[in-house]
Amino acid sequence: MLESEVTVLPGVGEKTAKILEKAGFFTVKDLFYYLPRTYENYQSAVKIRDVEPGKVTIKAKVKDAKTHYGRRRNFAITEATLYDDTDSIRAVWFNQPYRAKQLETGKDFYFSGDYELKNGRYQLMSPSVNLATLDNSVGETGFMPVYSSKNALKPDAFRRLFRGFRPEFAKIPDLLPKTEHTPSFVKENARKEALYKAHYATNDKEAKQAREYLAYEELFELILAAKLNKQETQKLRAEKIPYDDKAMKDLLKSLKFTLTDAQKLATWEIIKDLGKPTPMNRLLQGDVGAGKTVVAAASAFQAIRSGFQVALLAPTAVLAVQHAEGLDALLGPLGVKIGLLTGATKHKTELKRQIEQGNVDLVVGTHALITDDTRFKNLALCVIDEQHRFGVNQRQKLLLKSPEGAAPHLLSMTATPIPRSLQLTVFGDLDISTIKQLPKGRQPIKTKAMNSFNMKDELYPKIREELEKGRQIYWICKNIEDSPSLETISVKKQAKKLKTIFKSAKIEFLHGRMKPAEKDEIMEKFAKKQIDILVSTTVVEVGVNVPNASAIVIMDAENYGLAQLHQLRGRVGRGAHQSYCYLITGGENPPTRRLKELENSTDGFYLAEVDLKLRGPGEIYGALQHGALDLKIASFSDTHLIAKARKHAEDVAKNPEIMLKYKELSKSIKRYQQLTTLN
Ligand code: ADP
Ligand code: MG
Repeated sequence: MLESEVTVLPGVGEKTAKILEKAGFFTVKDLFYYLPRTYENYQSAVKIRDVEPGKVTIKAKVKDAKTHYGRRRNFAITEATLYDDTDSIRAVWFNQPYRAKQLETGKDFYFSGDYELKNGRYQLMSPSVNLATLDNSVGETGFMPVYSSKNALKPDAFRRLFRGFRPEFAKIPDLLPKTEHTPSFVKENARKEALYKAHYATNDKEAKQAREYLAYEELFELILAAKLNKQETQKLRAEKIPYDDKAMKDLLKSLKFTLTDAQKLATWEIIKDLGKPTPMNRLLQGDVGAGKTVVAAASAFQAIRSGFQVALLAPTAVLAVQHAEGLDALLGPLGVKIGLLTGATKHKTELKRQIEQGNVDLVVGTHALITDDTRFKNLALCVIDEQHRFGVNQRQKLLLKSPEGAAPHLLSMTATPIPRSLQLTVFGDLDISTIKQLPKGRQPIKTKAMNSFNMKDELYPKIREELEKGRQIYWICKNIEDSPSLETISVKKQAKKLKTIFKSAKIEFLHGRMKPAEKDEIMEKFAKKQIDILVSTTVVEVGVNVPNASAIVIMDAENYGLAQLHQLRGRVGRGAHQSYCYLITGGENPPTRRLKELENSTDGFYLAEVDLKLRGPGEIYGALQHGALDLKIASFSDTHLIAKARKHAEDVAKNPEIMLKYKELSKSIKRYQQLTTLN
């Protein structure tokens, strides 16, 4: 029934169906799962005599509703007197000229809004208005769902539609399978009751219970999909790469430092996975500067000494170049042949031939590596740096590059740690190695948030000091060019300005729209200290390693997420020098709470948790594009629901044939599986 087109619903004809379709509602399910954004509770309505400043709800009649226009014709002000049997007050609405007509004299309405002092007198400011005699439960119960608008559909339109749907809910079948660990609230008919109550709740408690069940459903599906994905990966075959002790010793000997315990442990976890005949699927997470690259290099060297090829994917050309150079310095002397394949690579055809013949051991590249026709002789391990930058499809393509019948082992690396709640859900049972410990001798970066008008006094002298010590500076701007519609400062304008402030400094800029060769050149000059201040967009965000850079200034910092700012900050503090991060906010507002968090913490794990709470996963993990994984009903802080759903999903994953009986569930799980296939 839920799969049917919306036209099966009472009151939905062809015309309404068209409108619904335009707004993305095709099936009954689409519509029934469009839950109210919130509820308005008129049960708390007070008599006007008792109204106090702040949020109030009253039931009142209206007189003298009038709209007049401000000096600018397009500015409408509607005013009215609201009264009940105790007293009267004034209400005002801005730019809602239809209100005057709606507010019929003598009828009872519910008004809900802020009662505050404005222009010398107390008024009810732009309150919501609902006829108290509507037959959609508001009149009877004083409790009303509030839907978000969607396209042409206004909240009232949803309410009107749903008024006619009540009897339909009885036909909704259950969704979730019964197993040993099915929680008690997932009982028979629980789903139809929950959906019904979500739309027709008569009090807060009902609304909350409804949501809890539906949140559980959502989490269950997500978790089950992740578990099934993992099982499917485990059915694939991969090349076994036996542990080569001599290779490891050779590599460790050639390092200029000793591995931290955390690095050793991570390397060991990877090596164990590589020895198995099923493909590894491991995420290596570690804060910026934690030293993930050397762990990847040690793993790659194992595969290469066993005669296999390895691919390393970087999100940008700049980073690919840097990785290729770094790895060449490390592994080249040990006999490893390294190839760099980016959009700017010359003699591509020849390089590709070498790769196909197996003459290149380690191929470092960007997206080009997976999207084009590069073929490997015997690819056994793929390393993906900053995995959250890649889409799921790209990863899939990479898997297809392996020799027939065997999938490559996959090692993803990220400096945006995955909060525990996500590990338990979206990232299901992904194997994770974590490097929490930074190499010895690193000094924490000092971070300061400030308003742009304090720059002259508080920032420039510091920058001058660093420059005089021979250090280099990153200066990050939001956009490339100036434009009248943007309030943020551009790379080009900032570079020009800095040239007048730091006259003897060599200043260049870098941005994503430059040609790859140009970008490489600038980055190289910066790495060679031929540039003192690099003004750039966030293209330098990931991975770039210039240890002599000791300060990063981020303009219009309020426009970035915490995870991203933390990542940017990780560009400095990579050498022995005390490093600084300055977060500059435009306008007059004091730095936000988010920026304060950065001042106080250099712990990427903590910041990722905060970011998740504030912005949701879709925003943080770019690869989960379009917020496809953002929860609609549940929240990642529903830890008790997550725990329950995990046990329940585990039962089903152990006996997947259960799913055969649950067709609707199977279908939606399949969709989730595609979204979370990184597991
Ligand atoms: P990230 O985890 O951010 O990718 P990198 O792998 O780029 O970090 O490492 C950052 C810097 O730390 C590099 O210059 C690297 O050579 C250095 N490094 C890595 N491991 C150690 C270690 N155990 N001791 C000292 N320096 C290290
Ligand atoms: Mg890195």
